[in-house]
Amino acid sequence: MRILVAEDDPSLAEGLVRSLRKSGYAVDHVANGEAADTALEANGFDLLILDLGLPKRSGLEVLKRLRSRKSATPVLILTARDSVNDRVTGLDAGADDYLAKPFELAELVARVRALTRRGMAGGAARISHGALAFDQVGRVASLNGEPIDLSARELGLLEIFLQCAGRLISKDQLVNHLCEWGEEVSGNAIEVYVHRLRKKLEPGGVRIATVRGLGYSLTKPVSP
Ligand code: CA
Repeated sequence: MRILVAEDDPSLAEGLVRSLRKSGYAVDHVANGEAADTALEANGFDLLILDLGLPKRSGLEVLKRLRSRKSATPVLILTARDSVNDRVTGLDAGADDYLAKPFELAELVARVRALTRRGMAGGAARISHGALAFDQVGRVASLNGEPIDLSARELGLLEIFLQCAGRLISKDQLVNHLCEWGEEVSGNAIEVYVHRLRKKLEPGGVRIATVRGLGYSLTKPVSP
């Protein structure tokens, strides 16, 4: 899951980025509306956290432009506490949720979880795939009821695989969803992550198939 944070307040932005990364998300940050626009046009993000009061181009304008490009990326807007108008205008313009400043970072992370899981399996709190179960709220995976110990990267990978179960995912798509700007992650590194995840899932009969030259696919679970 890759998130774009568009926030011009440096300390708030830093706190946001830090807590989201701790929760296992890949996070990129921009500090003005123009940069947000460019980033959204160039990359596929799974969620946008958007401050409405941004320099260069307002958050509302960024949101309108995003929706005019027919993007369905979930958007959480950050508004000033007393501006009911902003909230209404933002939601009308296609935002999915809002938080009024100041807010607790824990609440923000909870909202982010709710929004990102809407895109997955119709928003079910728990996804099952054969012996594998993934709890989207707690972000924990288990195999035959036993929790699996996964690194943040492996967790990110697993989420993408479950989102696209049965479909082919290219290495480029994996890099795009897993990695932040400036992070050098090669195709070889992706192979290593997939290899590790595969090892952890194999005991439950959950298989990630390699489609040579094209990418990977989480294959349909085999009935026991
Ligand atoms: Ca601001």
